[in-house]
Amino acid sequence: MDSSQFREAGHAAIEDIAQYYDTLAERPVLPSIVPGYLRPQLPDSVPEEGEEWSKIQSDIERVIVPGLTHWQSPKFMAFYPCNSSFPAMLGEMYSASFNAAAFNWICSPVVTELETIVMDWVAKLLNLPDCYLSHGEGGGIIQGTASEVVLTSLVAARERIIRRRLKDVPEGEERMDKAAEMRGKLVALASEHVHSSTQKAAVIAGTRFRTVPAPKEHNFSVTTAALRQTIEECKVKGIEPYYFTATLGSTATCAVDDLAGIAELAKEYPDIWIHVDAAYAGSALICPEYQHLCPPLAAFDSFNFNMHKWLLVNFDCSAFFIKKRKDLIDTYSITPSFLRNEFSESGMVIDYRDWQIPLGRRFRSLKVWFVLRTYGVKGLRDFIRGHIKLGEYFHTLLTSRADLFTVVTAPAFGLTTFHVNALSASASTLSSSPANKPNPAHEAYLNDFTNSAEAQFREDATQVTKQVYEKVNSQGEFFLTSTVVG
Ligand code: PLP
Repeated sequence: MDSSQFREAGHAAIEDIAQYYDTLAERPVLPSIVPGYLRPQLPDSVPEEGEEWSKIQSDIERVIVPGLTHWQSPKFMAFYPCNSSFPAMLGEMYSASFNAAAFNWICSPVVTELETIVMDWVAKLLNLPDCYLSHGEGGGIIQGTASEVVLTSLVAARERIIRRRLKDVPEGEERMDKAAEMRGKLVALASEHVHSSTQKAAVIAGTRFRTVPAPKEHNFSVTTAALRQTIEECKVKGIEPYYFTATLGSTATCAVDDLAGIAELAKEYPDIWIHVDAAYAGSALICPEYQHLCPPLAAFDSFNFNMHKWLLVNFDCSAFFIKKRKDLIDTYSITPSFLRNEFSESGMVIDYRDWQIPLGRRFRSLKVWFVLRTYGVKGLRDFIRGHIKLGEYFHTLLTSRADLFTVVTAPAFGLTTFHVNALSASASTLSSSPANKPNPAHEAYLNDFTNSAEAQFREDATQVTKQVYEKVNSQGEFFLTSTVVG
């Protein structure tokens, strides 16, 4: 394909994409294909002769679109959102066209410099404490996913505590033995409702993992007392906590751990790296009404949120802020001769390869820059507040049908969790119950609970809720996902 063919193909592709978005709301959100649908529709091997773009493009609608779950559909109600926007798509397009593996500043200075600037913009937009801006000892870096961020910070935490404990032991075999022995005794901690990425990172890092209880009576949040107790229990067993993921918006219920209390506790345990995972909810911090959550972050080591979840930047884009970039560089800076250059050695530039696990990196800041400039602070806040309002409206719909639904957790950011009531829910009641009429028999039943009746009710409610969402999903028009808590 040469540049004039590209021009023609590019126009056709953009036309196709615009058309896809224009018709998205009318498409069923879930595909109606069966596993393995694709193989019979494609040749067995690479075509011998190259094909025309028009033929390739026609396969998008023929074989690709039928296998898509439409995440951008307004009827997609599953997991968390994974927003997209046209300016971010343009950013991806330019990024692909400048195509570079820009690991060091010299590899393409603008890739580093724009990223530093837009991450500072983002830190200010969220009103993060000053320590996360690049002018001091900290700064921001874009990584692919929250899971990568958790792994990156957890491994850096593991190495930081080893460096601290073994600071007087010279490099060599004996030190490596001692470090290996220490790693087996280290334990990463997180809420019982933390996203699975912390446990996965602990497995990769070869350390242990323990959960901190966060029961329903504390709204599924980790309290200072629960965290302290888990830390102390670990110590009694001879294992050393070195990392804690505090969650700002848990996956199941959007619970927020007691950040202010944990910030106080952190002073007693300076060797525990505290990372705040705000993968979804972090985007709401652009609105002043959520920024009371920000001051405690100054007491922690790192923070991340996914701009690809809720801030209109196309996947992938996890914004990772670190208080002391030295903590990453001390772990990740390994410099063979082929990576050396005068700019890196001058100390005047950032080499982001030293803040992350891979070497190469994409030009992701371009799409962030395009989105921030296109929407502006006002446009982005309107977008977030619009979603929060929809979530609140959804909550009023649920409570207006208390005969059918029980709210488990009140609206938190955009999320309300609920279950279908065991007594009243069935396909027939769902379609026949008059609106706004609580069922008195059901309320009496609820008031009468013994503990075992409550356990049975919960079990029944779980089952009937599952039947309802499976039925909704089987119709293909909407897509819901579920969770089990408490
Ligand atoms: N953390 C939280 C709180 C999440 O809700 C999720 C995904 O839903 C993740 C981490 C993982 O995100 P990623 O896919 O970016 O690794």
